[in-house]
Amino acid sequence: MISGNRRGRVYRCPICGAELSVIRGGEGVLAPVCCNTRMELLGRSNTVYRCSICGSELMVIKDGGGKPEPVCCNEKMQVIGGNA
Ligand SMILES: [Zn+2]
Ligand SMILES: [Zn+2]
Repeated sequence: MISGNRRGRVYRCPICGAELSVIRGGEGVLAPVCCNTRMELLGRSNTVYRCSICGSELMVIKDGGGKPEPVCCNEKMQVIGGNA
């Protein structure tokens, strides 16, 4: 069973199309609701990048088909969650 509580996981509202993505997953069971309806856990995840020097994190909000290579503190940020 896939965990909905992992960083990068995406929930979508089947009514209005709103999407939520997990920034920080905890131990609980996430059950977001929108439009009075349970949001669906999608099979995809948003990729998250982290700077190993300062700890900054970036999450892909919109996938354009390219391959982003974010840089922070003059270092390439590492992928720590999501697809990739
Ligand atoms: Zn909705
Ligand atoms: Zn940094």
